Amino acid sequence: MAYPFIASPHVTRTTGRAVDVVVVHTMEAPERADTAEAVARWFARADSRVSAHYCVDADSIVQCVHEDDIAWHARGGNERSIGIELAGYAGQGPRGWDDDYSWSVLERSAILTAEICRRHDIPARRLRAPDLRMRRRGVTGHADVSEAFRRTDHWDPGPAFPWRRFLRLVRMRLALGGDVVERSTQA
Ligand SMILES: [Zn+2]
Repeated sequence: MAYPFIASPHVTRTTGRAVDVVVVHTMEAPERADTAEAVARWFARADSRVSAHYCVDADSIVQCVHEDDIAWHARGGNERSIGIELAGYAGQGPRGWDDDYSWSVLERSAILTAEICRRHDIPARRLRAPDLRMRRRGVTGHADVSEAFRRTDHWDPGPAFPWRRFLRLVRMRLALGGDVVERSTQA
């Protein structure tokens, strides 16, 4: 499905590429209704020098980079990945990920991740650093990219990120099939 687009100039253009990995980030920005829009506008600024393909908050998804282009979100792992930024903090504990706002972010992000997985035939499984170094395909966190390639020290989405819950939501969406997913996102 097509999302509002706020273009970031911080991309490496390609004429088509293989996408093997979805990288999950947290925005490290307050949980507000317009957080996705605000972070997308930051990625659009000339001086930010960073980007991601999608920004997700509790009530919206904004796209910033076309999936064929390489976004600058996880140094060492950008070339074959799609980066999605979730409203929240890497420092959130289990309770922080269990409030209404975060549930909405996780559900919305899961719909998006399922769409990406379907589009690029990526398995909805968690990849850790050794998997990334072996060029396996799946879903991972910025922290895992940092550990795998040692090009950054970013540790988002943090140790309390509810991976099992998130991937269960992604698999549920995949099981529902394409048009069901698109219809339910209109609700
Ligand atoms: Zn990150």
